[in-house]
Formats: sequence, structure tokens, C-alpha cells
Amino acid sequence: MTTTGPRFRFPEVDNAYVPSGSIGLLAVPSMLAMGGVAALLGGYLLGAILPSLDNLSRKPGLLGILLTILEIILKLAAFGFLGAGVGLAVHVGGRFGRNRNQWAALVLGLVCGVIVFIVVVSVGWDNPEYEKPTVAPLMAIAMFVALVLGPAATAYTGVGEDPFCEDHRRFLERREIHKLPYSAEGAAMDLLLSRDFAAIAKLPGTQDMMNYAAIELWFCDVCEAGYLSMTTTLSILKEDDYEAHVSEEERQVFSSSLNASEVKMIIGRER
Ligand SMILES: [Zn+2]
Repeated sequence: MTTTGPRFRFPEVDNAYVPSGSIGLLAVPSMLAMGGVAALLGGYLLGAILPSLDNLSRKPGLLGILLTILEIILKLAAFGFLGAGVGLAVHVGGRFGRNRNQWAALVLGLVCGVIVFIVVVSVGWDNPEYEKPTVAPLMAIAMFVALVLGPAATAYTGVGEDPFCEDHRRFLERREIHKLPYSAEGAAMDLLLSRDFAAIAKLPGTQDMMNYAAIELWFCDVCEAGYLSMTTTLSILKEDDYEAHVSEEERQVFSSSLNASEVKMIIGRER
């Protein structure tokens, strides 16, 4: 395997922002409310259509085989979408309730996953059209994984990554400050390391979508404390004897907290 094209100049760095892990007062009720409503409504809908999906495959011959394959695909897609949808509802509820705790999101995702699973099974089971439990063991396992573990994983993902101001109880505003060509990345790093943030605006910009470095600012709109990061995106051509493909890779190469005067200097705003 040979790689050609630009290479990363700087090592990956961790986020300067470290989540407090706090659970907002409203977070649990709001995650439970949003996730619960999604689980009840979505579970009821899927439970209602599940018997029709089961009946799809009750045809003899080749048509029956094709319809069985269709049934499996449709069921897996429905389980996957519903599980992710319930998890997303928990996630949105957590965002609304200002949750910064991944474990709270995981547990609430799991609780709503159990709710949606129970609703789907009981609504589907009570349906008079449901003649036989054709859910093969493998399908039952897939259903459990998608509906119970799916919401937990979706709700958990990304929680606590967005910077939050604990003093003013709000998620920070995000702003892209500059998009630099790959050739200017080294110069930008020098400015970032010497904390000469005002000079960054003088560096050249780029429209290149393949190889660039993006500088992003997050700041609290009350106290103006914030974080600054630089993320490099490169399109790297990878070749071996059999194939060549371009893989887009991203790496955070700078991350630092900023005080209010540094934020002001960057956004050029005085109060
Ligand atoms: Zn603040």
C-alpha cells in the first residue's frame, strides 16, 4: 500500500474542552418525555405494520422467496430506523435539557429502547392478522439489538462533545473563523501556538474542498470565554496492486481554551 498526496504535518490533539458530566435539572424528564413519545408512537406504528410484513412472504415458489428477502430487508430497515429515531429523540431531549453526561443518555436510551421493544411486540402480537410468530430467532435478535441497543448507542453518541459554559448554563456558539489552504497550515500553527490569534485573519483563505485546515471558535455569548480549534482535512490517495482510492481523513491538530479578551480579539467585538 502506497499513499500519495499531502500528509498530516501535526499530531492529533485532544479537545481542550472537558465536559463536566453534569446532568441538567430538566435533562432526565426531557430525555424521558421525548424518547418516550417517540417510543410509544413509533412502536405503535411498527407494531401495526409488522403483521403485513409477515404476510408478505406467504406466497409459494420463487415469488415467495423474493418476497421473503424483501420482508427481511424491510424489517431490518424498519427496526434500524425506529431504534435510531428513538435514540435521536432522547438525544434531542438531552440537548434541550442541557445534559452533558453520556451515561445518563445511555441509560435513558436503554429505557426508551425497552419501551419501544415492548410496544412493538405487544401491538404486533395483539393484531388479529398476526397468525404466527414468523420472527425467526435471528430476526428476533436483530430486532432486540436495533430496538433496545440502537437507541442507547444513538443517544450516547456525541453527548458532552459540544462545549458548554457551566457559569451561564448554555451551549457555546460555534463559528468558523477561517478556512486555510493546506500550504498555510504551518504558518497558522505558528500563530496559534504563539497565541497571535488576530493575525490568523491575514492568512490566505481557500475554496479547496479536498485539502484544507479549518479554524473554529466556540464562545459563550454572555462571558465570551471559549475554545479555538484547528482541524485538518486531507484527501489521501491510497494505492496497492489491486485498487486505488481516495480517502478523506480529518484530524484535530490544535485545541485550546480562550479567555474573553482573546475571543473578543478574534471576533472583533467589544461590549
Ligand atoms: Zn459564559
